[in-house]
Amino acid sequence: MGKKVLINLTPAAAADETTIRKIAASLTGMDISSVSALRVIKRSVDARKKNIRINLIVELFTVKDLVIPEIAPFIPVNVSKAQEVIIVGAGPAGLFAALRLIELGLRPVIIERGRDVSSRKKDIARISREQTVDPDSNYCFGEGGAGTYSDGKLYTRSKKRGDNTRVLELLCFHGANENMMYEAHPHLGTDKLPGIISNIRKSILEAGGQFLLEKKVTDFLLDGDLIKGVTTSDNEHFKSPYVILATGHSARDIYEICKIRGVELLMKPFAMGVRVEHPQELIDRIQYHGNSRGEYLPASSYNIVKQIDGRGVYSFCMCPGGFIVPSATSQEEVVVNGMSPSERNSPYANSGIVVEIRPEDTLKYGSFGELAGLEFQKELEREAWKNGGHTQRAPAQRLSDFVNGDISVSLPKVSYFPGVTSSPLHSWLPKAIGRRLRDGFRLFGQIMDGYLTNEAVVLGVESRTSSPVRIPRDPEKLHHIRISGLYPCGEGSGYAGGIVSSAVDGIRAAEAIAKKVSES
Ligand SMILES: Cc1cc2nc3c(=O)[nH]c(=O)nc-3n(C[C@H](O)[C@H](O)[C@H](O)COP(=O)(O)OP(=O)(O)OC[C@H]3O[C@@H](n4cnc5c(N)ncnc54)[C@H](O)[C@@H]3O)c2cc1C
Repeated sequence: MGKKVLINLTPAAAADETTIRKIAASLTGMDISSVSALRVIKRSVDARKKNIRINLIVELFTVKDLVIPEIAPFIPVNVSKAQEVIIVGAGPAGLFAALRLIELGLRPVIIERGRDVSSRKKDIARISREQTVDPDSNYCFGEGGAGTYSDGKLYTRSKKRGDNTRVLELLCFHGANENMMYEAHPHLGTDKLPGIISNIRKSILEAGGQFLLEKKVTDFLLDGDLIKGVTTSDNEHFKSPYVILATGHSARDIYEICKIRGVELLMKPFAMGVRVEHPQELIDRIQYHGNSRGEYLPASSYNIVKQIDGRGVYSFCMCPGGFIVPSATSQEEVVVNGMSPSERNSPYANSGIVVEIRPEDTLKYGSFGELAGLEFQKELEREAWKNGGHTQRAPAQRLSDFVNGDISVSLPKVSYFPGVTSSPLHSWLPKAIGRRLRDGFRLFGQIMDGYLTNEAVVLGVESRTSSPVRIPRDPEKLHHIRISGLYPCGEGSGYAGGIVSSAVDGIRAAEAIAKKVSES
C-alpha cells in the first residue's frame, strides 16, 4: 500500500506529473527521490469560485511498497459444455451478465435483434443521410445496446461501489482508458465504445459462449410459472430454464409480449421533455466565472434540479462538447438524445431538460393499463415527427422564444445531423410538460446567468430517459415475481438506468442464476 494524499492545484499544475509528484511528496513528508511510482485515485474540478482548482487524491509508492495494484483482469473459464443461460439483448446489462456467467462457469447464449457494432454504424449514418430508421439497428438497438453510440458517461447514483468498480475494471480490461478508475466523472466517449464492445464479444466467444446477432426474440416459451426458453422472429426455439431479459427501455414489443403472455408488469414514474443546446463556449463562460476554458480545463457541464408545481424538472444526460443524436426506433417518431466524443471537443453543449411524469399523469391512456406511460411516450414522439416535417428532422425553437411563446423565424446552427424545422413547441407540448419546462428554464436562467438566451435552441422530444414500465421481480432472488427462471434486468426491467447501473444489474442477475444452478 502506498501513501494517499489529497492535493489541490491549479489546472496547469494538475496537468504536470512532476509538479504533482513534488507537492504530494512534500505533503506526505516523503523524500521525493524515494517515490518510485504515483497513481491518481480521484480527480475532480472545483469551479465553485472564480479561481478554479483541481482536486486530486494521489497515492505515492516507494520501491519497498507492494507493487501498484493492477486492474483485476477478466479470467475466462471454458464454458462451451456448461449449463446454458439465454440472454436477450447485448446492451451493457446483457454483456456484463455474459462476462459474469463465464467467470462463474455458465455458458451465455446471447440473442440480439440488431447488427454488429460496425455494421450498426452504417445504419446510424443512414438516419441522417436518408432520414430512415431501421427498426432493429439504430441508436438504441444493436450490439452494445443504447450505450454504444452515447457519451459513455459512467456515473451512477448507486452506493454499491464494489460492483461499480468491477464494471469499470472490465471496461478497462477490454480497452477503456485506465483514467476511468479515478476520474470523478469518467466518460468513455462515443469514438472509443465500439472497440470496447467488440473486445467484449471476443472474450465471450473465446470462452465458448454464443453470440447470435440479427435475431429478434418474439415470444417466450412458458409452461405455467416456468420459462423454458424463447422463440425468435425466424421461428427458431432456444431452450433453457434460465432466461435473462436485458432488452432495454425501447423494446416496446417485449413489454407487449409480456402483456399478452400474462407476465405481470407495473407502471413506474419516468420523465419527458426536450433537449437544449447552447454554444459550449457560453456554458464555459458561465461555469468558469467569465474565464475562457483555456488549455487545461475540460468542457464544462451543469446539473440542475428544480421542483415546479409538484414535479421535478431537471437536466438529464448533459453532454459537454457533444452532439444531439436521433434516437428513434421506428420511422414515424422523432426522439432526441445526446452523446460526446472522448475529447468532448464539439462547439456545442447539450442536455436533456425533462419533467417527471407519474402514473397519475397518464390517465388519458388508461385503456392501455400498465402500458399507459408507453402510449404517452409514443404519442409525444409521433407529434414531434409530425411537427418536424414527417422525417427525422427535429422540431426546434430558440430557447427564449420557447419560454416567451414566440415563433422562431430563424434557427441557429445545431449539432443535430438530420436537421431541424422551426416549430412552436410551446404550443403543442402537453401543458403539464411545456409549462413546467418554461418555468424551469426561467429558474435555470436565474441560477446560471446567460443560460436563458436565444443563442440556445430546444429540440423535441427527449422521451426515452427511463422506462415507464417495471417488470417486477423477487427482491432477493431477482427472478420475475412469478416466473422463477425469467430474470428481467437492466434499464428495461425498470430497476436500473444508465450504463454502469445496467451493467451492475446484469452482473447481479448472473450471480443469482449461478446460485440457483448450484442449489439445484
Ligand atoms: C444516445 C444515447 C446516449 C446515452 N448516453 C448515456 C451516457 O452517457 N451514460 C449512461 O450511463 N447512459 C447513457 N445512455 C443510456 C444507456 O445507454 C442505457 O441506460 C443503457 O444502455 C441500458 O442498458 P441495457 O443493457 O439495460 O439496455 P440497452 O442498452 O437498451 O440494450 C438492450 C439491447 O436489447 C436488444 N433487444 C431489444 N429487444 C430485443 C429483442 N426482442 N430480441 C433481441 N434483442 C433485443 C437491443 O437491440 C439492445 O441492444 C444513453 C442512451 C442513448 C440512446
